[in-house]
Amino acid sequence: MDIFHTRAELEAWRCGAGQVAFVPTMGALHAGHLSLIKLAQARAERVVASIYVNPTQFAPHEDFDSYPRDTEADAALLRRENVDALYLPSYAELYPDGEASPIQTGAAAEGLETDFRPHFFGGVANVVYRLLDHVQPDIAVFGEKDYQQLMVVREMVADQGLAVEIAGAPIARDEFGLALSSRNAYLSAEELVVARRLNGVLRDVAVKDASQALLDAGFDRVDYVAERWGRVLAAASVGKTRLIDNVEGI
Ligand code: AMP
Repeated sequence: MDIFHTRAELEAWRCGAGQVAFVPTMGALHAGHLSLIKLAQARAERVVASIYVNPTQFAPHEDFDSYPRDTEADAALLRRENVDALYLPSYAELYPDGEASPIQTGAAAEGLETDFRPHFFGGVANVVYRLLDHVQPDIAVFGEKDYQQLMVVREMVADQGLAVEIAGAPIARDEFGLALSSRNAYLSAEELVVARRLNGVLRDVAVKDASQALLDAGFDRVDYVAERWGRVLAAASVGKTRLIDNVEGI
Protein backbone atom coordinates (compact mmCIF):
# COMPACT_ATOMS: atom_id res chain seq x y z
CA MET A 1 0.00 0.00 0.00
CA ASP A 2 1.34 3.41 -0.96
CA ILE A 3 1.07 6.16 1.63
CA PHE A 4 0.86 9.75 0.40
CA HIS A 5 0.99 12.94 2.41
CA THR A 6 0.78 15.47 -0.40
CA ARG A 7 -1.58 16.23 -3.25
CA ALA A 8 1.34 16.13 -5.72
CA GLU A 9 2.35 12.57 -4.74
CA LEU A 10 -1.26 11.43 -4.96
CA GLU A 11 -1.80 13.04 -8.37
CA ALA A 12 1.32 11.35 -9.76
CA TRP A 13 -0.04 7.97 -8.61
CA ARG A 14 -3.57 8.78 -9.85
CA CYS A 15 -2.37 9.29 -13.44
CA GLY A 16 -1.67 5.58 -13.94
CA ALA A 17 -4.27 4.17 -11.57
CA GLY A 18 -7.26 3.57 -13.89
CA GLN A 19 -10.70 3.39 -12.24
CA VAL A 20 -10.42 4.62 -8.66
CA ALA A 21 -12.85 4.36 -5.73
CA PHE A 22 -12.30 6.59 -2.71
CA VAL A 23 -13.22 6.00 0.95
CA PRO A 24 -12.74 9.09 3.14
CA THR A 25 -12.55 8.47 6.90
CA MET A 26 -11.48 10.08 10.16
CA GLY A 27 -9.58 6.95 11.20
CA ALA A 28 -10.04 4.79 14.32
CA LEU A 29 -11.13 2.24 11.76
CA HIS A 30 -13.65 -0.52 12.52
CA ALA A 31 -15.64 -3.10 10.57
CA GLY A 32 -18.01 -0.37 9.32
CA HIS A 33 -15.15 1.35 7.51
CA LEU A 34 -13.93 -1.99 6.17
CA SER A 35 -17.35 -2.70 4.66
CA LEU A 36 -16.99 0.56 2.71
CA ILE A 37 -13.56 -0.60 1.52
CA LYS A 38 -15.10 -3.90 0.34
CA LEU A 39 -17.77 -2.05 -1.61
CA ALA A 40 -15.12 0.23 -3.12
CA GLN A 41 -13.03 -2.78 -4.18
CA ALA A 42 -16.07 -4.34 -5.85
CA ARG A 43 -16.69 -1.13 -7.80
CA ALA A 44 -13.24 -0.07 -9.06
CA GLU A 45 -9.76 -1.32 -9.99
CA ARG A 46 -7.98 0.69 -7.29
CA VAL A 47 -9.04 1.94 -3.87
CA VAL A 48 -7.78 5.02 -2.07
CA ALA A 49 -8.67 5.56 1.59
CA SER A 50 -7.98 8.76 3.45
CA ILE A 51 -7.65 9.49 7.15
CA TYR A 52 -8.14 13.09 8.19
CA VAL A 53 -9.77 14.36 11.39
CA ASN A 54 -11.25 17.52 9.96
CA PRO A 55 -11.20 20.41 12.45
CA THR A 56 -13.74 22.49 10.52
CA GLN A 57 -16.59 20.09 11.29
CA PHE A 58 -16.07 20.14 15.07
CA ALA A 59 -17.50 22.91 17.27
CA PRO A 60 -15.13 24.26 19.96
CA HIS A 61 -16.90 22.25 22.69
CA GLU A 62 -16.77 18.99 20.69
CA ASP A 63 -14.22 16.16 20.79
CA PHE A 64 -11.67 17.23 18.14
CA ASP A 65 -8.69 16.95 20.52
CA SER A 66 -9.78 13.69 22.10
CA TYR A 67 -11.06 12.03 18.91
CA PRO A 68 -9.36 8.58 18.78
CA ARG A 69 -6.26 8.59 16.57
CA ASP A 70 -4.07 5.56 15.79
CA THR A 71 -2.79 5.96 12.27
CA GLU A 72 -0.30 3.08 12.47
CA ALA A 73 -2.94 0.54 13.48
CA ASP A 74 -5.30 1.96 10.83
CA ALA A 75 -2.63 1.69 8.13
CA ALA A 76 -1.91 -1.93 9.12
CA LEU A 77 -5.63 -2.73 8.85
CA LEU A 78 -5.92 -1.11 5.42
CA ARG A 79 -2.79 -2.90 4.21
CA ARG A 80 -4.35 -6.23 5.26
CA GLU A 81 -7.47 -5.32 3.28
CA ASN A 82 -5.33 -4.74 0.18
CA VAL A 83 -6.12 -1.07 -0.10
CA ASP A 84 -3.94 0.42 -2.84
CA ALA A 85 -3.23 3.86 -1.42
CA LEU A 86 -3.71 5.75 1.83
CA TYR A 87 -3.87 9.54 1.76
CA LEU A 88 -2.87 11.31 4.99
CA PRO A 89 -3.06 15.02 4.17
CA SER A 90 -2.01 17.71 6.63
CA TYR A 91 -4.11 20.77 7.42
CA ALA A 92 -1.79 22.88 5.25
CA GLU A 93 -2.19 20.47 2.35
CA LEU A 94 -6.00 20.56 2.47
CA TYR A 95 -6.43 24.22 3.38
CA PRO A 96 -3.49 25.96 1.66
CA ASP A 97 -5.47 29.17 1.26
CA GLY A 98 -7.43 28.92 4.50
CA GLU A 99 -10.91 27.59 5.15
CA ALA A 100 -12.94 29.87 2.89
CA SER A 101 -14.89 27.67 0.53
CA PRO A 102 -17.18 28.09 -2.47
CA ILE A 103 -19.31 25.31 -1.02
CA GLN A 104 -22.77 26.23 0.23
CA THR A 105 -24.87 23.41 1.62
CA GLY A 106 -28.47 23.17 0.43
CA ALA A 107 -31.79 21.67 1.50
CA ALA A 108 -30.30 18.34 2.60
CA ALA A 109 -28.37 20.08 5.37
CA GLU A 110 -31.44 21.80 6.79
CA GLY A 111 -32.78 20.55 10.14
CA LEU A 112 -31.93 17.31 12.00
CA GLU A 113 -28.16 17.39 12.72
CA THR A 114 -27.94 21.07 11.76
CA ASP A 115 -30.35 22.03 14.55
CA PHE A 116 -27.82 20.70 17.06
CA ARG A 117 -24.50 21.02 15.20
CA PRO A 118 -24.96 24.11 12.98
CA HIS A 119 -21.29 24.17 11.91
CA PHE A 120 -21.17 20.49 10.96
CA PHE A 121 -22.28 20.08 7.35
CA GLY A 122 -20.50 23.22 6.20
CA GLY A 123 -17.28 21.62 7.46
CA VAL A 124 -18.11 18.25 5.93
CA ALA A 125 -19.06 19.65 2.51
CA ASN A 126 -15.92 21.79 2.51
CA VAL A 127 -13.51 18.96 3.32
CA VAL A 128 -15.20 16.41 1.06
CA TYR A 129 -15.03 18.88 -1.84
CA ARG A 130 -11.31 19.37 -1.19
CA LEU A 131 -10.61 15.65 -0.80
CA LEU A 132 -12.49 14.83 -4.01
CA ASP A 133 -10.48 17.52 -5.77
CA HIS A 134 -7.21 15.94 -4.58
CA VAL A 135 -8.12 12.30 -5.25
CA GLN A 136 -10.21 12.75 -8.44
CA PRO A 137 -12.00 9.41 -7.93
CA ASP A 138 -14.60 7.84 -10.23
CA ILE A 139 -16.60 6.72 -7.19
CA ALA A 140 -16.60 7.78 -3.55
CA VAL A 141 -18.20 5.59 -0.87
CA PHE A 142 -20.03 6.96 2.19
CA GLY A 143 -21.86 5.04 4.92
CA GLU A 144 -25.64 5.14 5.33
CA LYS A 145 -25.01 5.35 9.08
CA ASP A 146 -24.44 9.07 8.57
CA TYR A 147 -27.51 9.28 6.36
CA GLN A 148 -27.97 13.04 6.31
CA GLN A 149 -24.25 13.40 5.54
CA LEU A 150 -24.65 11.06 2.56
CA MET A 151 -27.54 13.23 1.32
CA VAL A 152 -25.53 16.44 1.86
CA VAL A 153 -22.56 15.03 -0.06
CA ARG A 154 -24.79 13.89 -2.95
CA GLU A 155 -26.40 17.33 -3.10
CA MET A 156 -23.00 19.08 -2.99
CA VAL A 157 -21.63 16.91 -5.81
CA ALA A 158 -24.72 17.63 -7.96
CA ASP A 159 -24.63 21.38 -7.17
CA GLN A 160 -20.93 21.61 -8.02
CA GLY A 161 -21.35 19.48 -11.17
CA LEU A 162 -18.62 17.04 -10.08
CA ALA A 163 -18.15 13.91 -12.20
CA VAL A 164 -18.06 11.42 -9.34
CA GLU A 165 -20.59 8.79 -8.30
CA ILE A 166 -21.46 8.85 -4.59
CA ALA A 167 -22.21 5.29 -3.45
CA GLY A 168 -23.99 4.57 -0.15
CA ALA A 169 -22.94 1.56 1.94
CA PRO A 170 -25.33 -0.23 4.35
CA ILE A 171 -24.89 0.28 8.11
CA ALA A 172 -22.54 -2.19 9.82
CA ARG A 173 -23.83 -3.12 13.30
CA ASP A 174 -22.65 -5.22 16.22
CA GLU A 175 -24.55 -8.38 17.20
CA PHE A 176 -26.94 -6.25 19.32
CA GLY A 177 -27.77 -3.89 16.47
CA LEU A 178 -25.57 -1.00 17.63
CA ALA A 179 -24.22 0.87 14.60
CA LEU A 180 -20.42 0.64 14.70
CA SER A 181 -18.76 3.99 15.33
CA SER A 182 -15.33 5.23 16.36
CA ARG A 183 -17.11 7.12 19.16
CA ASN A 184 -18.46 3.86 20.67
CA ALA A 185 -14.99 3.60 22.25
CA TYR A 186 -16.11 6.36 24.65
CA LEU A 187 -18.93 4.23 26.12
CA SER A 188 -18.59 2.61 29.56
CA ALA A 189 -19.94 -0.94 30.00
CA GLU A 190 -23.18 0.44 31.45
CA GLU A 191 -23.56 3.03 28.69
CA LEU A 192 -22.98 0.36 26.04
CA VAL A 193 -26.01 -1.55 27.34
CA VAL A 194 -28.16 1.57 26.84
CA ALA A 195 -26.57 2.42 23.46
CA ARG A 196 -27.49 -1.02 22.14
CA ARG A 197 -31.20 -0.22 22.66
CA LEU A 198 -31.24 2.64 20.14
CA ASN A 199 -31.70 0.54 17.03
CA GLY A 200 -34.51 -1.59 18.49
CA VAL A 201 -36.51 1.47 19.59
CA LEU A 202 -36.19 3.04 16.13
CA ARG A 203 -37.33 -0.20 14.52
CA ASP A 204 -40.17 -1.03 16.89
CA VAL A 205 -41.63 2.22 18.27
CA ALA A 206 -43.69 4.77 16.31
CA VAL A 207 -41.77 7.99 15.61
CA LYS A 208 -44.06 10.09 17.81
CA ASP A 209 -43.39 7.83 20.82
CA ALA A 210 -39.72 7.08 20.16
CA SER A 211 -38.15 10.03 22.05
CA GLN A 212 -39.88 9.04 25.28
CA ALA A 213 -39.07 5.37 24.67
CA LEU A 214 -35.37 6.27 24.34
CA LEU A 215 -35.44 8.24 27.59
CA ASP A 216 -37.19 5.29 29.25
CA ALA A 217 -34.47 3.02 27.83
CA GLY A 218 -31.81 5.02 29.68
CA PHE A 219 -30.71 7.67 27.19
CA ASP A 220 -29.92 10.98 28.87
CA ARG A 221 -30.92 13.25 25.99
CA VAL A 222 -32.74 12.83 22.68
CA ASP A 223 -31.93 15.47 20.08
CA TYR A 224 -34.41 14.22 17.48
CA VAL A 225 -36.29 11.28 16.08
CA ALA A 226 -37.69 12.20 12.67
CA GLU A 227 -38.70 10.77 9.31
CA ARG A 228 -37.03 11.93 6.12
CA TRP A 229 -35.87 10.30 2.87
CA GLY A 230 -37.98 7.23 3.74
CA ARG A 231 -35.86 6.67 6.85
CA VAL A 232 -36.34 7.18 10.56
CA LEU A 233 -33.31 9.13 11.77
CA ALA A 234 -32.28 9.80 15.36
CA ALA A 235 -29.61 11.35 17.54
CA ALA A 236 -29.45 10.62 21.27
CA SER A 237 -26.85 10.85 24.01
CA VAL A 238 -25.87 8.43 26.72
CA GLY A 239 -23.55 10.09 29.20
CA LYS A 240 -21.21 12.32 27.19
CA THR A 241 -21.48 10.23 24.03
CA ARG A 242 -23.82 11.28 21.25
CA LEU A 243 -25.00 8.49 18.95
CA ILE A 244 -26.79 8.70 15.61
CA ASP A 245 -28.59 5.94 13.79
CA ASN A 246 -31.30 5.42 11.21
CA VAL A 247 -33.53 2.64 9.94
CA GLU A 248 -35.72 2.16 6.92
CA GLY A 249 -39.11 3.87 7.41
CA ILE A 250 -42.36 1.94 7.38
P1 AMP B 1 -15.94 8.46 10.01
O1 AMP B 1 -14.54 7.92 10.09
O2 AMP B 1 -16.76 8.19 11.23
O3 AMP B 1 -16.01 9.87 9.50
O4 AMP B 1 -16.66 7.58 8.89
C1 AMP B 1 -16.12 7.46 7.60
C2 AMP B 1 -17.14 6.81 6.71
O5 AMP B 1 -17.49 5.53 7.24
C3 AMP B 1 -18.43 7.62 6.60
O6 AMP B 1 -18.89 7.56 5.26
C4 AMP B 1 -19.36 6.90 7.53
O7 AMP B 1 -20.72 7.02 7.18
C5 AMP B 1 -18.89 5.47 7.36
N1 AMP B 1 -19.28 4.65 8.51
C6 AMP B 1 -18.93 4.85 9.80
N2 AMP B 1 -19.50 3.92 10.59
C7 AMP B 1 -20.23 3.12 9.77
C8 AMP B 1 -21.06 1.99 9.97
N3 AMP B 1 -21.28 1.47 11.18
N4 AMP B 1 -21.65 1.42 8.89
C9 AMP B 1 -21.46 1.93 7.66
N5 AMP B 1 -20.68 3.00 7.40
C10 AMP B 1 -20.09 3.59 8.44
